[in-house]
Amino acid sequence: MLPASLIAKKRDGGRLSEEEIQSLVDGFVRGDVADYQMAALAMAICLRGMDAEETAALTMAMLHSGQCLPRPDNGPPRVDKHSTGGLGDKISLILAPLLATCGVQVPMISGRGLGITGGTLDKLESIPGYSVQFELRETPSLLQRAGCFIIGASLQIAPADRRLYALRDVTGTVESVALITASILSKKLAASLDALVMDVKCGNGAFMHSLDRAQELAASLVSTGQAAGLPVRALITDMEQPLGRAVGNAIEVNESLDVLAGGGPTEVRELTLQLAAEALVMTGISADVQAGYALSAKHLDDGSARERFEQMVVAQRGTLRGPLPLHHARPIYPQQAGTLAAIDCRAIGESIVALGGGRRQVGDNIDHRVGLDVRARIGDMVAADQPLAFLHCSGDACGQVMPRLTAAFQIRDEAVEPRPLVLATNSSELP
Ligand code: URA
Repeated sequence: MLPASLIAKKRDGGRLSEEEIQSLVDGFVRGDVADYQMAALAMAICLRGMDAEETAALTMAMLHSGQCLPRPDNGPPRVDKHSTGGLGDKISLILAPLLATCGVQVPMISGRGLGITGGTLDKLESIPGYSVQFELRETPSLLQRAGCFIIGASLQIAPADRRLYALRDVTGTVESVALITASILSKKLAASLDALVMDVKCGNGAFMHSLDRAQELAASLVSTGQAAGLPVRALITDMEQPLGRAVGNAIEVNESLDVLAGGGPTEVRELTLQLAAEALVMTGISADVQAGYALSAKHLDDGSARERFEQMVVAQRGTLRGPLPLHHARPIYPQQAGTLAAIDCRAIGESIVALGGGRRQVGDNIDHRVGLDVRARIGDMVAADQPLAFLHCSGDACGQVMPRLTAAFQIRDEAVEPRPLVLATNSSELP
């Protein structure tokens, strides 16, 4: 069938077969299916959805559009964690070296920030010299040196996803469960993993605003992973407020260094340990999540995770000499005394982008020293003279974003319950 007929079939609510999906993706990569046709297909998928078999077929077709990471037959287990993205989410920086100290390899292929959520690669590039660009053939030596790496996707990994994602980004077709599933898993399967832990973010600072939608995405990731032979566990975690105190690039590296040395905000440490525990159980290193949690906590507290992070930085050509510099800090006071009831994550993310801490467009430069240090969490009592946050910025733009940032923190007179960190879990184990 011609591409136009297949697109129309999906538009009318029909089911595409594995062969039909494969022919569309192959044609897209070869140039026989034009960008506008693929964008039309993405819109049809967004509106009509895909069932489990179609989602798995799309994932495999995108995986096979590129190459996989080389992997020896008898190496240690390989695991990765992927987050759907949220404000202040710096867990990857901590988790990769932490898991490596527990005896697994962590080949982490991460992305850049676009929109309100920061990108792991941008955060790491705050470290002078840190390189995220390596060829697939260089990855075994990175793993040998530090047991983990955090790099960008090379052109050889799932090229169909790279091109489709760029189209989705500009055609309002990012937020489809099937498309997100295929996009994430095609890249993760290319890393030749034994297990994947997903952190599906839910709330006003995430793609998925409702628990129902987050659960739908988690279930799709778990079942598609299972169909492709990759065990996946998903935690659905709260994104109604930034994770931890630091939001930005250099500032998030600094907070990660604190957590790697056994300190840092409780919720960042806690989520890191919960995700690590799941990964260690899935790879057979720990018998249960309690044992995995205890082993990971020991490696944060005894300094080995921090040491491993430094080894990864050196292997990736970076130079780290203590905390990274930030712009001058300006306090943000609450509009009134009371209880912190809600935080507008979008307003915070957009303010950081406006100050140069994120990108408006692909290719924009980033000011790594911009950041926000949030000092209160939902449910905390705040006094009128107690700063809610400190904004690190420079220039006239600082004053311009202050009113929006101040209004992003909603204060009420009555008590407000603190929010849970983990909202739900979802897992698959292969027989
Ligand atoms: N992350 C990805 O890699 N792809 C998506 O579609 C969404 C989040």
